[in-house]
Amino acid sequence: MDYKATIGGKPVQAQAHFSVINPATGAEAGRAPDLGLADLDAAVAAANEAFMSWSAQSDEALQAACAAVTAKIEEHQAELAEIITLEQGKPMNGLGSRWEMGGAHAWAGYTTALSLPVKVLQDNEQGRVELHRKPLGVVGSITPWNFPVMIAIWHIMPALRTGNTVVIKPSPFTPLSTLRLVEIINEVLPAGVVNVVTGSDKGVNLGAAMSDHPGIRKIVFTGSCATGQKIMRSAANTMKRLTLEMGGNDAGIVLPDADPKAIAEGLFWGAFINNGQTCAALKRLYVHESIHDAVCDELVAYAKNIPVGNGMEETSILGPIQNRAQFDKVSRLVADAKRNGKVLLGGEPGEGLFFPPTIVAGLKNGDPLVDEEQFGPALPIIRYSDVEEAIRFANDSPNGLGGSVWSSDIEAAKTVASRITTGSVWINKHGAIQPNAPFGGVKSSGLGVEFGEEGLVEYTDIQVIFS
Ligand code: NAD
Repeated sequence: MDYKATIGGKPVQAQAHFSVINPATGAEAGRAPDLGLADLDAAVAAANEAFMSWSAQSDEALQAACAAVTAKIEEHQAELAEIITLEQGKPMNGLGSRWEMGGAHAWAGYTTALSLPVKVLQDNEQGRVELHRKPLGVVGSITPWNFPVMIAIWHIMPALRTGNTVVIKPSPFTPLSTLRLVEIINEVLPAGVVNVVTGSDKGVNLGAAMSDHPGIRKIVFTGSCATGQKIMRSAANTMKRLTLEMGGNDAGIVLPDADPKAIAEGLFWGAFINNGQTCAALKRLYVHESIHDAVCDELVAYAKNIPVGNGMEETSILGPIQNRAQFDKVSRLVADAKRNGKVLLGGEPGEGLFFPPTIVAGLKNGDPLVDEEQFGPALPIIRYSDVEEAIRFANDSPNGLGGSVWSSDIEAAKTVASRITTGSVWINKHGAIQPNAPFGGVKSSGLGVEFGEEGLVEYTDIQVIFS
């Protein structure tokens, strides 16, 4: 089936399409338009044209329009979940595509309810000073392949809520659900408010062209560190505002007083949610030597019962790795980990793009599976003897997205948490993001935050009115 891009409220008649492959079967999940620079220009022009009347509306009218978008997402949750599974590979079931759509709907609703009222900074005989938040113009959204609809919603909703218009460009690996999402939300929005362009990234790179485009005022990007850095460089030419959510290599520290059995399930899902293809997944686990073996045993006991298979089958709880390059990366890191480590579970690539949940003990900082972002179903476990040493190891990374501390003593865990140099730290869980809490990386993991009021203000400029 050929999916259609939407520009200026109308379907685009594309000259060429590219195949999107279902990673569970290798079959074609659908075809996406292979658009070029002229299409991007048309999308940016449509969004700029729509911006004039969209941004001039009252705050109540913007909020009502966002509520209508939220209702559309709810209405089409089941349909979009199926497209996500077909192109991304994650199961319909468990923490898969239905769960992703539940999150997309929740985030859309929460963001709709937020507002940024005028702040009065001064009001006295000397005068009145008001701080207003103004929309920027056209927001360019560039998304990755791991949570295609949820991340699209994270970008689109705050942009709309604050009076901006949008051009979104999904990953070439998972463009279909975004094409359909934009088609659906265009049913309740004026033409040109949300536009979508897709391309194969072979030849023309639409993301690179967006970050250099003079008609775009801000880029919101979720993806790898290397791409985020390229965007930052080229955005300087036009002084774009940037929100960059990039890679992570999150550490978890298990303190000696943790209960191995009680934490096993949380550790597993912290690491293996979406098959480990999650920015803020647990990617290295430091366990105190006194309970190291017990934690390994409990984690393996939990993990070995998780069914892996085609995501369209209700029995599957984890699916395949999304694409060949990612599969090869995970295979390389696991093969290398066997040199110094001991494989406790999994370890051998399966058929096609399937890779079983893999747990490797005996590794340390400096081993590639510990130092690199594996972004897949392979967790290294590192034994430590002293908490100071564990904190040092956890912080020994250019990334700073998330981290976690596992303990029966919440206050002791919080003290350790405060010393981890990441944007979020969880106690006795990992990666549990929520729409009311700002989320973002420090160090090389990004710039700015998403979610909550702090995330919303990133879609605005300040204007101060003195009277
Ligand atoms: P990627 O950087 O390869 O691609 C992301 C997007 O950027 C795609 O749409 C791609 O087409 C586009 N792109 C490619 N080249 C570009 C260029 N030169 N300029 C502008 N855009 C360009 O990332 P990916 O492989 O799709 O996603 C995996 C990465 O994303 C992982 O590192 C993961 O940690 C990260 N991620 C981060 C978060 C977060 O919130 N911090 C969330 C999800 C994923």
